[in-house]
Amino acid sequence: MTDTPNTACELCGSAHKRTLHRIGGYDIQQCEACGFAHIHPFPARAARAAFYAGSEVAARKEKKKRGPLKRVAAFARHWLRRVSGRTKGTVFLRELTRRLPAGSHVLDIGCGTGAFLATARTRYQCTGIEISEDLAALARELGVEVLVGDFCEYPFGERRFDAIAMVSLLEHLHQPLAALRQCRALLANGGLLLLKTVNHGGLNRRVMGANWSGYRPPDHLVYFDPASLTRALETAGFRNIKIRASLLNDSFYCYAERDDGSQSVAGMAA
Ligand SMILES: [Zn+2]
Repeated sequence: MTDTPNTACELCGSAHKRTLHRIGGYDIQQCEACGFAHIHPFPARAARAAFYAGSEVAARKEKKKRGPLKRVAAFARHWLRRVSGRTKGTVFLRELTRRLPAGSHVLDIGCGTGAFLATARTRYQCTGIEISEDLAALARELGVEVLVGDFCEYPFGERRFDAIAMVSLLEHLHQPLAALRQCRALLANGGLLLLKTVNHGGLNRRVMGANWSGYRPPDHLVYFDPASLTRALETAGFRNIKIRASLLNDSFYCYAERDDGSQSVAGMAA
């Protein structure tokens, strides 16, 4: 069962694709023209939603069953991240603080249990949207607004946001270009998009090949590198695209402004 047939590259339209690997019954295909990669075939949408909810709920139950040694190790990791200032969400919050005034409205798409919202709500009006009702219920415990649904289809009406965060979401989407266009539509003039996604151009992927940890079909559907993501963002109507990638990190960060041909919010705050 698939949602989409294997057709031309969603990003550049080229029909020239090559199969890099075959993993767990899925091909990893890459466009030879632009480098955009994806699994084939795509699993059906209903199966994906159940997969995410099931895996997160299972992970939480597993956490509760942890023995004392694992609890101590998890606690130590938590505090090491806090001391080093690299907790989930802090990288984006630093960038947001530099660019957006306090009180601006931030939307976290695919907010999960609210890891980013928990950090961002200290300075901004926050809204999350999450496809899984179970995860949304957990995020609501933070006291922030959490919508339930597919953000590409949700009836936002006239609502617009000053910034949108998509933390480790893009790789799960089967139509990433349409998703980026929807982000642009939901942003106010000059609004800021913050993205984190797995880096298909990273050193680790090149060295590990089919054993790279980023290849997780049917969890991860699409794979960008800095060049293909920049192309996707420009196509979707973004400008001033800044990529933050390091050779050893399996993910990379990206900041982009809604291209509306006017003075940007980020520019005014800088
Ligand atoms: Zn392509």
